[in-house]
Amino acid sequence: MLLERWDLNAEASGRNAGGFHVQIQFEPFEVEGEDWARAWAPTIPLLIDAVEHWQGLSGELGVELEVKLTGGVLVAETEEQLAAIERKAAIERGAGLDVELLSRADLRRVAPYLSSALAGGLLCPVEGKANPLLATHAFARAAQQLGARIELRVDLLEIERTPGGFRVETSGGPIECERIVDCAGVAAGRVSALVGVPLPVESWPLQAHVTEAVAPLVRHLVAFAGGRLTVKQAAAGSILIGGGWPSEPDPETGRPAVSLHSLHANLRVARHVVPALAGVRLLRIWTGVCNGTPDHRPILGELEDVPGFFVAAFPFLGFTAAPLMGRLVAELACGRAVPYDLAPFAAARFSAAHVEEPVPADR
Ligand SMILES: Cc1cc2nc3c(=O)[nH]c(=O)nc-3n(C[C@H](O)[C@H](O)[C@H](O)COP(=O)(O)OP(=O)(O)OC[C@H]3O[C@@H](n4cnc5c(N)ncnc54)[C@H](O)[C@@H]3O)c2cc1C
Repeated sequence: MLLERWDLNAEASGRNAGGFHVQIQFEPFEVEGEDWARAWAPTIPLLIDAVEHWQGLSGELGVELEVKLTGGVLVAETEEQLAAIERKAAIERGAGLDVELLSRADLRRVAPYLSSALAGGLLCPVEGKANPLLATHAFARAAQQLGARIELRVDLLEIERTPGGFRVETSGGPIECERIVDCAGVAAGRVSALVGVPLPVESWPLQAHVTEAVAPLVRHLVAFAGGRLTVKQAAAGSILIGGGWPSEPDPETGRPAVSLHSLHANLRVARHVVPALAGVRLLRIWTGVCNGTPDHRPILGELEDVPGFFVAAFPFLGFTAAPLMGRLVAELACGRAVPYDLAPFAAARFSAAHVEEPVPADR
C-alpha cells in the first residue's frame, strides 16, 4: 500500500528536469574536494545500473517513457576547470564509469552547438533523459495491476511500534503493518523521526525553465563547470534549462515562487554555453523542492534500531536512481539480499553526528 498525502507526481518526482546523471556533480566536487568524491563514488555503480534499468522500462511498463541515452557533456571554459574535470574523471574511472576527456577540438566535433569559447570537457556516454511526467504514472498503473493499493490524499501522521510491526495513524484512519518503507522525499527525515530516528534529509527549493519546441539543437545532457547549468532537449523539442538555481519563498504564503534573479542568471549562463538559445523563447517556469543529504549519498536500507523500517532516500539525482532504488528497497523489505554493498548508504552514518531538524518542506 502506498500512502501519498497529495497526488502522484505532485512533488519532486513530477517537477524534476528528467536528466539521467551518473558522473560526480561538479559543484560539490569543487566545493568539497576529492576525499568527498571518493566517499561518494560507491554511488556511481548504482547510477550506472539505474540507467541500464531505465532502458527496459518502456517495454516493461507498456508506456513510451522517452528514455534516451544521449550522453552527458560537462564543459569547461578555463584550464583550471579542465584540470579539475580531469581529477574528477580519474575517480569516476576508478568506480567503473566510462568517461572521455574532450579537448577543445573534440568538443567542437562532438557538440558543435556549444560555444566555441569553451576549452573542452568530459563526455559520459551513459547519461541521458526520460520524461518524468510519464514515468511515475506508468509505474503506478503497473503496480496497481499487480495488486498494489494507492491511497491518495492520505497523510501519514504517527507511527507506533507494536509486537507485530507498526500501527500507523493516517488522516484516513489507522493501519497495521509489518513493514514500512519511508520514501517521503524531502519529508523522509520527518517520517523517520516518527520512529525515533530523525535523519538529516534536506530541502532545496529549486526552479526549472522550459522553452518552446524547436528543431533538434541540443544533442546531449549539458552541464557547465563555470556555473550552475543543465540543458537538454526533450523529445517534443522543448529545451529544459536548470541546474540547481533556487526558487524563493512567496512573501505571503511562504510557498516556493519563481525567483527572477535565478531566472535571469540561469538563462544567461545557458546562452553563454549554448549561444543559439538566444533565439529561442521561454515558455514556462516551475518550482520544485529537491531532497538532499549532507554527503550527497543516498540513505538506503533497514534502520539498525527499528527492524521492519526501511528508508529509500536518493538525494539530488533521485529521478535517475528511482526505478533501481524502488526495486532494491522492495527486495530488502521482502527479506532478500541485494548485490550491492549498502554500508556507504546506511542511515547509521548520521547517528554519531549532530542531526539538525529537517528544514520544513514547501507546504
Ligand atoms: C527542479 C528539480 C530538478 C531536478 N532534476 C533532476 C534531474 O534532472 N535528474 C535527477 O535524477 N533528479 C533530479 N531532481 C531530483 C529528483 O526529482 C528527486 O531526487 C526525486 O524525485 C525524489 O523522489 P522521491 O520519490 O524520493 O520524492 P518525491 O517525488 O518528493 O515523493 C515523495 C512523496 O512523499 C509524499 N509524502 C511526504 N510526506 C508524506 C506523509 N507524511 N504522508 C503521505 N505522503 C507523504 C509527498 O507528497 C511526495 O509525493 C530534481 C529535483 C528538482 C526539484
